[in-house]
Amino acid sequence: MANVIDGKKLSEDILAKVKQETAVLREQHDIQPGIAVIIVGEDSASKVYVASKEKRAEECGFLSNKYELDGKTSEADLLALVKELNADKNIHGILVQLPLPAHINADHVIQTISPDKDVDGFHYINAGKVMTGAIEDAFVPCTPAGIMLMVEHGLGKDLSGLDAVVVGRSNIVGKPVAALLLAANATVTIAHSRTREIDDVCRSADILVAAVGKPEMIKGDWIKPGATVIDVGINRIPAPEKGQGKTRLVGDVEYKTAEKVAGFITPVPGGVGPMTIAMLMANTLKAACKANNLPLPKF
Ligand code: NAP
Repeated sequence: MANVIDGKKLSEDILAKVKQETAVLREQHDIQPGIAVIIVGEDSASKVYVASKEKRAEECGFLSNKYELDGKTSEADLLALVKELNADKNIHGILVQLPLPAHINADHVIQTISPDKDVDGFHYINAGKVMTGAIEDAFVPCTPAGIMLMVEHGLGKDLSGLDAVVVGRSNIVGKPVAALLLAANATVTIAHSRTREIDDVCRSADILVAAVGKPEMIKGDWIKPGATVIDVGINRIPAPEKGQGKTRLVGDVEYKTAEKVAGFITPVPGGVGPMTIAMLMANTLKAACKANNLPLPKF
């Protein structure tokens, strides 16, 4: 049976470090890291994510400002708010919760956030730094950053000689995680919806990262014995066994067959999800240090 990489526990360790370093920053330098979270509209899943980010930020000792905008807010008004926050010295990180309503171009908004406050790591400047290997200087997107800490937990920092397969090529997860695995010396393949014989491609992986958004697509017999399997997917499926109308969360990997084959595996829930929020807090602390020319914390 695979060793389980416990994202809840790992994320608690990261948050404890953020909290401790924030206390030092406040005491020794009178600096309080500040995060602004903007949510537009009434998407219920987004509201849950924003509430948990706000809770974590407060637990870390940050200033946390939430902006809840009406779903009809214009793109111009949203851009004006982002520019105002770019200029606000008390705010070190700006996060615009996605998805945005269809009449707002999300890319315009993301590219308006100052790269120095882009704690989500979605600005072209930060994406470019990750792709070119200037990782120390970048805000690395939170989910890929968390994934790399989980891989490191199982296999160490240097992945020389290991084959990694990333299933999914989104800008948020697949592409940056592939760049980070490459920077750690893995030999990386990116698979996607047009990949032929994807099960065989997956079987070649010593490290398999699934970021697809298809419930339990990757089966145990797609996995090389002993591989490290990181399941990024968060999919809600019907769970009639829990009662009528009930649902449960599953990943992109079929856990019950995968855990019999993998060497290390991440669960859903309690895997990559909590790591993402912890890395957001780590990035915000980093942004506050960077803005004040202080040494950057390492995670
Ligand atoms: P996305 O933007 O929808 O990208 C999905 C990727 O999977 C695409 O590249 C797509 O290929 C590929 N794909 C779709 N169907 C496929 C198939 N049948 N075979 C092979 N590849 C296929 O999704 P995302 O934002 O990267 O998120 C992926 C999953 O991770 C979702 O379940 C999401 O909820 C979850 N997620 C979790 C966290 C977390 O904190 N745990 C954070 C972000 C996302 P094409 O490019 O060819 O269309």
